[in-house]
Amino acid sequence: MCCEKDGDYWVINGSKNWITHGITGDVSVVLARTGEWLYSRGITAFVVERGTPCFRGGKKENKLGMRASETAEMIFEDCRVHQDQVLGEVGDGFVQAMKVLDGGRISIAALSLGIAKGAFDAALKYSKEREQFGKPISSFQAISFKLADMATQIEAAELLTFQAADLKNRGQKVTRESAFAKYYASEVCVRVATEAVQIFGGYGYTKDFPVEKFYRDSKLCTIGEGTSEIQKLVIARELLK
Ligand SMILES: Cc1cc2nc3c(=O)[nH]c(=O)nc-3n(C[C@H](O)[C@H](O)[C@H](O)COP(=O)(O)OP(=O)(O)OC[C@H]3O[C@@H](n4cnc5c(N)ncnc54)[C@H](O)[C@@H]3O)c2cc1C
Repeated sequence: MCCEKDGDYWVINGSKNWITHGITGDVSVVLARTGEWLYSRGITAFVVERGTPCFRGGKKENKLGMRASETAEMIFEDCRVHQDQVLGEVGDGFVQAMKVLDGGRISIAALSLGIAKGAFDAALKYSKEREQFGKPISSFQAISFKLADMATQIEAAELLTFQAADLKNRGQKVTRESAFAKYYASEVCVRVATEAVQIFGGYGYTKDFPVEKFYRDSKLCTIGEGTSEIQKLVIARELLK
């Protein structure tokens, strides 16, 4: 997305895909290039409302999961925004985005935890109800050990998430801790949702039970707000400073 000054206005051109609520969101924060390429002070954030002329939502993605929340392209064609709509100062955008990501990653860790706990609760309940060979499947060590692993990983993910949230609440820098929490909790979420489907057996593969949805939704958590690979990159950079 690029941007040129014209009197009191900035004129934005370009598009960005993968925007959560890109069609229905009322207000968006748009990062556009106002300076040189690859220059960290070359990006500025603007607040742009839905209904602004020459700004519209585009293609809606047909996703694996998280289907209740639309993800779409946003398109800007000579879209004029007043200089008062600059968030902070011109050139602040990159630093603002990094700070937002530090906080946002804690939210994705919390989202991951919610999905993992939902999947675990459903699997625990089902394992006590479903009988095979005359016994509840929870009495088989293979199943009870899965439950033990799931519970342990959820507990650890929760502690990392609370640690990051607590530091953030106290106004401290959380780049490393939010990456720890996001990376670990999202991977746990996928593992727990996968095991939950396994514990449900054939029914886990149907829409009759919620674990199929948890399984599909879980995968976004290792991708959005920076993939697991990017979290490892952030953590490694922090460790090697
Ligand atoms: C449902 C959904 C909602 C989203 N909502 C938003 C939103 O509201 N706003 C927004 O701005 N974005 C949003 N995104 C975009 C999301 O943040 C990106 O998809 C994500 O950061 C990954 O970037 P990418 O898709 O370009 O993957 P790529 O960067 O193309 O990555 C592809 C693969 O290469 C790996 N890779 C890339 N670079 C490196 C590297 N340097 N080292 C090692 N491995 C690397 C990645 O880990 C991944 O495995 C959303 C995405 C989804 C799926």
